[in-house]
Amino acid sequence: MSWEELYSSAFKKVRDNIASVGRVLLAYNTNIDAIKYLYGRDLEERVNKEGVENVLPYSEELPERITSVPELLGSILWSIRRGKAAELFVESCSTRFYMKRWGWDELRMGGQVGIMANLLGGVYGVPVIAHVPQLSKLQAGLFKDGPIYVPKLEGGKLKLVHPSEFSGDEESCIHYIYEFPRGFRVLDFEAPRENRFIGAADDYNTNLFIRDEFKSNFEGLADSSELAIISGLQALTEENYREPFETIRAHLEVLEEKGIPAHLEFAFTPDETVRREILGLLGKFWSVGLNEVELASIMDVMGEKALAEKLLANDPVDPIAVTEAMLKLAEKTGVRRIHFHTYGYYLALTDYKGEFVRDALLFAALAAAAKAKLGDVRSIDDVVRAMDVPVNEKAAAVEGALVKEYGMKDGIGEIDGYQLSFIPTKIVAKPKSTVGIGDTISSSAFVGEFALRE
Ligand code: ADP
Repeated sequence: MSWEELYSSAFKKVRDNIASVGRVLLAYNTNIDAIKYLYGRDLEERVNKEGVENVLPYSEELPERITSVPELLGSILWSIRRGKAAELFVESCSTRFYMKRWGWDELRMGGQVGIMANLLGGVYGVPVIAHVPQLSKLQAGLFKDGPIYVPKLEGGKLKLVHPSEFSGDEESCIHYIYEFPRGFRVLDFEAPRENRFIGAADDYNTNLFIRDEFKSNFEGLADSSELAIISGLQALTEENYREPFETIRAHLEVLEEKGIPAHLEFAFTPDETVRREILGLLGKFWSVGLNEVELASIMDVMGEKALAEKLLANDPVDPIAVTEAMLKLAEKTGVRRIHFHTYGYYLALTDYKGEFVRDALLFAALAAAAKAKLGDVRSIDDVVRAMDVPVNEKAAAVEGALVKEYGMKDGIGEIDGYQLSFIPTKIVAKPKSTVGIGDTISSSAFVGEFALRE
């Protein structure tokens, strides 16, 4: 079958079965995204004002967190030069104020939980329970209609309500997103592709604050769920990870005990200690989702420096290096499913077999292309509107390498007892937005897989 045919049939299968998926528990990070589309001249003027020599070092190597305006601007340049995403915590109040005055073009739902809640609950109609650390009116207004619930304590009793019915005006947690298109020019740099840099002015998600409603009632919340997706660990640091990690470990044990598959949405985690700790927790997860920067950063803490470099050396990313890295990760941690996504293709390594793994990836790629093309996907039927987006041509060479190395056929191969699934993605040439696209990919593929298992 051609990839177009595989795409079309995978979409139909997932659409017809998605209603069979039970409740998905989403924890822990939800915030408000303030999006700013960068202008070359504006950015250059700002860099010059701070002094190019003060800014450029951070475009070579990212700081661990942002404590000054030159660090902010340098980090933005780091992303532009590489066409790669990065996210850092903004610690200083004066830099937060600078960002606020620089302003934004639009406000959107942010945080993996928020984005996935809107996609799964608001678009696919899959019921979700979401952890929202702070539910301000602004935050509540960003949730779509649909089976999206947050726990609320009323007279000592736990109720599940839509965020718009929570009616407690808590704080707003704002993440500033600086987006740039492919070919964006500033100083001597040109962005090889569209992407963005994120500065988080947020003390709740960054400390992985977990609400009492979740802490004291987790068993009950888990009981009413079929799947779980965990995210938000990326913001932690060596100083603050211990307490939330204890809670997370306890939550994972509850999920494991109840046989609820949990997916970890790994995101760029600048702190090495935290990355190591996440690696230590990975065996408690069924599944993990990550991109090339994230996989390389894990290889780094596993002592696989050469492999880490290889993952970032080529465009498109060398699929043999990716497979090697995924195998090492699976063997070290025992995680059952690893879903890798990069610009142009996805790979999944699973300790179980079946075409449904590949088909779920295809559904996810279609959903991602729909999001890139339309900006907002309103219903599952909107997803199919990405069918006319062409399959990435560069992925043919990637597929060729996989066929040669692992005898892959129709995107499915076998290696060391694992199934390796591959798909070329559909790439939207002029995307409306790429924010949250990774979350769309990972949650669609994970939930899609369970829709197809039934
Ligand atoms: P995020 O942090 O937004 O979730 P990730 O790096 O995790 O970002 O995911 C970005 C992914 O989105 C890439 O790996 C790629 O597969 C996909 N993607 C990026 N740009 C496009 C595009 N223009 N069309 C389709 N898919 C895209």
